[in-house]
Amino acid sequence: MVVVMKASAGQQEIAALVRRFEEMGLEVGVTNGIGCTILGLVGDTASLDSGKISMEPSVERVMRVQEPYKKANRKFHPEDTQIVVGNAKIGAGAFSVIAGPCSVESEEQVTGIARDAKKAGATLLRGGAFKPRTSPYSFQGMGVEGLDLLLHAKQATGLPIVSEIMSPRMVDEFEQKVDVVQVGARNMQNFDLLKEVGRMSKPILLKRGLSNSYEEWIMSAEYIMSEGNENVILCERGIRTFETYTRNTLDVSAIPAIKKMSHLPVIIDPSHAAGMSWMVEPLAMAAIAAGADGLMIEVHNDPPNAKCDGQQSLTPAQFGTLMEKVEALVALSGKELIK
Ligand code: PEP
Ligand code: MN
Repeated sequence: MVVVMKASAGQQEIAALVRRFEEMGLEVGVTNGIGCTILGLVGDTASLDSGKISMEPSVERVMRVQEPYKKANRKFHPEDTQIVVGNAKIGAGAFSVIAGPCSVESEEQVTGIARDAKKAGATLLRGGAFKPRTSPYSFQGMGVEGLDLLLHAKQATGLPIVSEIMSPRMVDEFEQKVDVVQVGARNMQNFDLLKEVGRMSKPILLKRGLSNSYEEWIMSAEYIMSEGNENVILCERGIRTFETYTRNTLDVSAIPAIKKMSHLPVIIDPSHAAGMSWMVEPLAMAAIAAGADGLMIEVHNDPPNAKCDGQQSLTPAQFGTLMEKVEALVALSGKELIK
């Protein structure tokens, strides 16, 4: 952090501020320029409140030169992190595909889709039991019963389960039943929820909020990691832009950007980004080309009659065709597709 002192700041004021920073365990480099003094703070400045420092009467301006995140920061952890769940591996050269319905609707539905998804090469089964719907009158998910149906599908196929948690009250239930706990876009900055899942033993799939910056997204991962759970997968699922043609705009730049900023794996959900099934394949291809570590794809046995997100869901047959293309492109990208 760099603190620029006011030209009017006296030597005593500067010395007092330097002493305060040193008492916090920071090293302070003092540069006396013409008409102004600059303090360079070296050390753990993540918990310093730059706004507060800028309120000091002798301070002109405060600038952060280091990111406010530590555990998620690639600078302090240069190697890629890999998340391993069942047969699936995500990150550090390994590419896995998560597939399944937007929401669990019945045992036959979810188990049937799980079987088809596995056959096509998915290594994780997704399915929402608690759904964050825009309208309170829309289908809200089957709740705990939905988690139990996912467990049946897991028993039938061996595929580990990914499902979204919406409330800190459900942490124990999810700890027992779910293999990867999804925090959805709408809860990306639900800090109480982030802290709770940060104490879980299961990997967390953290979706990017609809209108959140890369730094805000990584800071949410930092919340989870700071509680002890360092197994976080970041998932870009499209953001809000002025374009209304698609449901959201897939931010492909997020892949190289996040990989530069963080060591955490990045996967792409082209289904929620596009909102249209025909666009899932080209966006999935773009994601692989840009360096993604995995995909999350919505698959439904009967999209026109799905209780949620049918318009963006692939049929099992379409998913099978997509997986052939995924396999070819992942091989070209130098990563290993885990099947
Ligand atoms: C979902 O995965 O079904 C979901 C609701 O996703 P998002 O939080 O990205 O909208
Ligand atoms: Mn959905």
